[in-house]
Amino acid sequence: MIPFAHTCPYEIVAGDLYVLECPFCRAERVLLPLRRHELPLIRDGRKKLLVFPCCHASITLVDCDADYLLADRPVRR
Ligand SMILES: [Zn+2]
Repeated sequence: MIPFAHTCPYEIVAGDLYVLECPFCRAERVLLPLRRHELPLIRDGRKKLLVFPCCHASITLVDCDADYLLADRPVRR
């Protein structure tokens, strides 16, 4: 079961991934350096370092589903 505090909701727009709000600096509609085709790899267990371009905070993605990215540490306050 995915711990809620580790989840980060995302959306896909034209193949690009966005978060509505950066969990670290609160920037809005942040384009992530992550491609849609990488999601199945993450789901299969490949860890992926994600650096937010807005504030350079980094998390390691360990899983995802259709709505959420799952980080290795809490991303919600
Ligand atoms: Zn940020």
